[in-house]
Amino acid sequence: MGKVLPRKEMPRRDPQERIRDFNEVATGFTEEEAVYEASRCLQCPKQPCVSACPVGSLIPEFMKLVKEKDFQKAYEKVREMNRIPAISGRVCPQETLCEEACTLAKVGQPVAIGAVERFIADYALKQGMAKEVRPSERGRLKVAVVGSGPAGLTAAAELAARGHEVKVFEALHKPGGVVFYGIPEFRLPKKIVEQEIAVLKEQGVEFEHGVVVGRTVTIKDLFDDGYDGVFVGTGAGTPKFLGLPGENLNYIYSSNEFLTRVNLLKAYSFPLYGTPVKVGSKVVVIGAGNTAMDSSRTAVRMGADEVYIVYRRSRAEMPARKEEVFNAEQEGVQIMLLTSPTRFLGDEKGCVKSVELQQMQLGEPDESGRRRPRPVSGSEFLKDADTVIIAIGNRVNPLIQMTTPGLETSGDEGLIKVDENGQTSIERLYAAGDVVLGEATVIEAMGTGQRAALSMHRKLTGNA
Ligand code: FAD
Repeated sequence: MGKVLPRKEMPRRDPQERIRDFNEVATGFTEEEAVYEASRCLQCPKQPCVSACPVGSLIPEFMKLVKEKDFQKAYEKVREMNRIPAISGRVCPQETLCEEACTLAKVGQPVAIGAVERFIADYALKQGMAKEVRPSERGRLKVAVVGSGPAGLTAAAELAARGHEVKVFEALHKPGGVVFYGIPEFRLPKKIVEQEIAVLKEQGVEFEHGVVVGRTVTIKDLFDDGYDGVFVGTGAGTPKFLGLPGENLNYIYSSNEFLTRVNLLKAYSFPLYGTPVKVGSKVVVIGAGNTAMDSSRTAVRMGADEVYIVYRRSRAEMPARKEEVFNAEQEGVQIMLLTSPTRFLGDEKGCVKSVELQQMQLGEPDESGRRRPRPVSGSEFLKDADTVIIAIGNRVNPLIQMTTPGLETSGDEGLIKVDENGQTSIERLYAAGDVVLGEATVIEAMGTGQRAALSMHRKLTGNA
């Protein structure tokens, strides 16, 4: 291997400037930067990056096209395997997938694959290259997709690309799932999600909002209405709580409620939009995943003076992407490690005023392989807080499981059980994403959605 060129990192806005607004933090590569970074790709014959990608993105092929500045063809290559690249290019944990597998990672820094993917997708959306050509043969199968998160969007796009008539049923008034209502504007602008969905609409995918499947209609109703196949991608949107004394006090939010109020209902533009969200001056966020990072950084932007993340393990076990932890700390979020809440205390009006915390130490590894945190006795102390956000994860949405007789589930959480093709225990009913995997990632939701959609296509049309 010759001399390895240094990696170009994606530019970010200055922390002091960006905490004042909800605009995007990472500003994206210029054409020159993308071409430079793509030219670092070694074009390895074994393509370890492709094998590491849940959707099998054709990385070396699009890198070559970017290097040659053929952005139209590069975009077409990206879209062959990835139906929403402007979204995944921004939030996918590339550092533990394609970039970790990149041969250059062994001798220095991997190619900035996510940043190049984002560049191509943004370029295509801006230049209007993203218009889909509708397949000439249409309406072979009639398919219902339930849920419009990354799993549902990917499944819908794959099926529409094969000439099927696809309708997406979404409970909320906007499509996108967590990438719309959960992940904040400063990481993934709503406009980008809307533009990616517009590409699917061009492709012929129809959307119906405000339909809660399991309540407004059932899965059986959909089959009775003539749908040949139904895909379920209803995600994991039911918040988990700690079960500690005082958790019902006012201004203790689940991260779900907090982020949805801010993102979907635009509380940051109150009174322009009708839903306020009160954020005090001292905020404590419990948990250390992406949701906790998003909640803490949102609280900073909503005007909090002090924001603390409380996490019971050490930094090495924090589940959030490293980049997001870095961003949060740059923005002034403070992380209290090996610390866990024991109860919440309120004032005479029933509003939270402090959190009792205790110190932890790490013991033997638990079933997840992470060292189990144990309380240090007598280490309790009080921390003032006028807002608390519980960000310890979500359970799957249970409605379809409860209202679909014969649908098998697994585990205490009620994950929908599927075979290796994404088919459930019911013929012609497929499922993917968080509702099958438990809380996972955008790219895993896309990968499982892709596999289930292709299996449905093969099985129901008899095509290889
Ligand atoms: P979802 O995105 O949850 O979408 C499910 C959709 O189904 C929703 O729109 C919901 O309204 C709809 N629905 C539910 N029930 C019904 C029903 N009965 N009828 C009709 N519609 C229904 N992953 C990453 O890779 N990178 C990140 O940086 C990242 N950050 C995250 C930040 C936050 C705050 C959260 C909460 C998650 C984050 N994740 C991240 C995880 C990622 O967003 C999820 O794994 C992914 O969105 C799962 O996709 P999905 O399509 O399975 O479900």
